[in-house]
Amino acid sequence: MALIVQKYGGTSVGTVERIQAVAEKVAQVRQRGDQIVVVVSAMSGETNRLIALARAIDERPDPREMDVLISTGEQVTIALLSMALHKIDCPAKSYTGGQVDILTDNAFSKARIRGIDDVRVRSDLEAGRVVVVAGFQGVDEHGNITTLGRGGSDTTAVALAAALKADECQIFTDVDGVYTTDPRVEPKARRLERITFEEMLEMASLGSKVLQIRAVEFAGKYNVPLRVLSSFEEGEGTLITFEDEGMEEAKISGIAFNRDEAKLTIRGVPDQPGVAYSILGPIAGANIEIDMIVQNVSEDNTTDFTFTVHRNDFTKALELLQDTATVLGAREASGDDSIVKISLVGVGMRSHAGIAATMFETLAKEGINIGMISTSEIKVSVVVDEKYLELGVRALHNAFNLEQNGVANP
Ligand code: ASP
Ligand code: MG
Repeated sequence: MALIVQKYGGTSVGTVERIQAVAEKVAQVRQRGDQIVVVVSAMSGETNRLIALARAIDERPDPREMDVLISTGEQVTIALLSMALHKIDCPAKSYTGGQVDILTDNAFSKARIRGIDDVRVRSDLEAGRVVVVAGFQGVDEHGNITTLGRGGSDTTAVALAAALKADECQIFTDVDGVYTTDPRVEPKARRLERITFEEMLEMASLGSKVLQIRAVEFAGKYNVPLRVLSSFEEGEGTLITFEDEGMEEAKISGIAFNRDEAKLTIRGVPDQPGVAYSILGPIAGANIEIDMIVQNVSEDNTTDFTFTVHRNDFTKALELLQDTATVLGAREASGDDSIVKISLVGVGMRSHAGIAATMFETLAKEGINIGMISTSEIKVSVVVDEKYLELGVRALHNAFNLEQNGVANP
């Protein structure tokens, strides 16, 4: 007998009919003799609707009351799903996050789970019941309702799976797995059978928005096998797990990209201690996150310094940089918000040299100029002009044979 945690996202429970279809799937798991805990999101659009209601009263509503409000969406779904299960003679019981003691810190709207007391869930499971839990929510130590950040139901599911030592945590969503890249950019993108936690984190943080990043971190930390599957089609989905022992090949798992960045450059700054700090200090002080940073080798005791920020922060960051340029006596500060970042992700990079070279060669053959480069153990990222996004992604997908197996074409 296995213990499975399943999570159904907003579109999977978007209508009464879909909730009934979920009930059928859940009942099947119980029928084959396994134990099951189901975590659900609010019906699609509901959380946004609630947020809009609050904003109509106050642009900056009280955070505690906001969480009281937006946690209600999930409470609707747990009750409806339990009713649908009862209707097909499947015993089930619904619980809010607080009722199953999902204890969090008190950071409203982005709370972190501290612990789960699994006693109640276990006794229901042992009594043969399906346990239906509201995602996205918990309570702090004073009993205040908290929420876990947008997409937080994924994290609820993983945390429950970890606490219960479940055999698998299955995330049902509107896509049938994790792809080598966005199929809207490269129609030849292939569903991955497996991907490592580390790779998934890189893919997710770079904009492949299949899972909440925190859920992936949590799963990796507590070693919870995580599977992403479609709630509308049958299939194996993608298993997110630990690295395979025998991974010998120069394997690349995917290509992520991010259209939300902008690049800023300050030229001719005196090359002396403290320069990086005087440039980036004001940016960080304005709560602007910096992604890539490149400082050039100095010439005539001056240097150039380039970094990227989120596009939404571009104008503000450029203003700050222009002020800094004046203070430091730099030659000029300029920016470009029509760039994209393309990243190659794969654990195979750890043991194989030459992957970055193949990447640069591929882009060169297409006449794509690389503006910036950054690397980590399992990732190489380049910044290029946004007009080359599609071309670059497709060329790399082909060069690394991602349609087949993720090993570079000879
Ligand atoms: N309902 C919440 C949201 O829309 C949580 C979730 O769906 O995971 O972000
Ligand atoms: Mg989601």
